[in-house]
Amino acid sequence: MPVRATKRGAERTRFASGAAFDVVICGASFAGLAVARELRASGARVLVLDRYEIGERQTSACAAPTEWLVNLGLDRSIRQTFPSLLVHTPARTARWPLPWTFSTFDYPELCAALWEQSDASFETAKVDGRTGNVVHTDRGDVSAGLLVDALGWRRVLGTGANVQPPEAALSRGLEVHPAGRGRDLELWLDTRYISPGYGWSFPARDELRIGVGSFDPRLHVKAPTLMLAADVEAEAVRFEGNWIPHRLRPAAEDGVFFAGDSAGHCLPLTAEGIRTALYFGIACGRELAAVLDGRQTVGSALRRYGEFSASHKWQFDCMYAAQQSVRRLHGRPMDALVGLFGRRRVAHWAFRHYLEIAPPVAALPAPAAPLASVAAAA
Ligand SMILES: Cc1cc2nc3c(=O)[nH]c(=O)nc-3n(C[C@H](O)[C@H](O)[C@H](O)COP(=O)(O)OP(=O)(O)OC[C@H]3O[C@@H](n4cnc5c(N)ncnc54)[C@H](O)[C@@H]3O)c2cc1C
Repeated sequence: MPVRATKRGAERTRFASGAAFDVVICGASFAGLAVARELRASGARVLVLDRYEIGERQTSACAAPTEWLVNLGLDRSIRQTFPSLLVHTPARTARWPLPWTFSTFDYPELCAALWEQSDASFETAKVDGRTGNVVHTDRGDVSAGLLVDALGWRRVLGTGANVQPPEAALSRGLEVHPAGRGRDLELWLDTRYISPGYGWSFPARDELRIGVGSFDPRLHVKAPTLMLAADVEAEAVRFEGNWIPHRLRPAAEDGVFFAGDSAGHCLPLTAEGIRTALYFGIACGRELAAVLDGRQTVGSALRRYGEFSASHKWQFDCMYAAQQSVRRLHGRPMDALVGLFGRRRVAHWAFRHYLEIAPPVAALPAPAAPLASVAAAA
């Protein structure tokens, strides 16, 4: 594997004036690394930028469907695998059997494994904004014919003013990472912690990831997170948190491709955004690859990718509606619902449909390039 040293301190020099690339991918987490992976062997000059080194900053409980991780060749990052969810309300506990499994994984290891599958170059730089196809960073400007914003909820390369909490359509999540072991992926639907949201404890071999997410950006989650950690007798240490967009935003805008949280690709009801960041990152990367090898124009890629993302709108809208109803269901309706999903047939039916929103087959190598259809669309 080639050594790609990131720049720190005195090494953090300015980019050469007029530095130009074929593709600049801003953000080196799930979405950005997935885009870069799809451009391997394209022969293009691809630069990935992030303010931190790859894998340095985890902002997630890092649980994803196992098949996604396996199909992407990321098995070595898996820490623990779960065939069910253990769901608590104040009145009852039910085990929801899954038709597939979730795995928790190690974030630095997963990022390293994804990065090994790309042949892009990487630089640490804070992205400040964009003018046309020029990206402004704290190390100077870089330009590219193809720009990707995989920077998360701030959508730094977008047009107009940034969305700002607490008014924006954002959820918020905070978790602690104490040492510890557990057998189950656990969820709490309990107003003592949060009404519009849920609490969780995700074991990852020798660590627990315990947190609370709020669908209402005005509600603080620190006190509930501390309460949940105390209730499960875990130490409240190593805090991680972030905002999570809960509405889709245009995935192609003003000549820029957006993937992952920057396009609102996190599923609103569950706040599951890793699988979808990978899914839309792969879709974006495949469109860019078709531009780089001359099969379509940039305009065609923007249109096709924008439409692909938008074609998922109804599923995101349904999940958003369900998210908004959570706070109204506590009590008997919630207990009944949680019990219903304890039935194998119900849970399997629902979770199969849920996985289909971003199916793991998308992580497999691209099928033979649909040259005719892409060329026709160009
Ligand atoms: C507490 C919490 C727990 C979660 N748990 C799960 C979970 O278990 N499973 C799941 O599927 N989803 C989970 N999510 C949601 C998930 O983390 C996100 O949806 C996912 O990380 C989105 O991936 P991304 O690549 O789009 O963005 P991010 O992972 O946010 O990556 C953005 C990247 O851009 C970089 N960046 C940001 N701004 C700049 C800048 N100005 N200049 C340079 N670089 C910049 C960041 O350093 C980062 O590397 C959780 C979220 C939270 C908050």
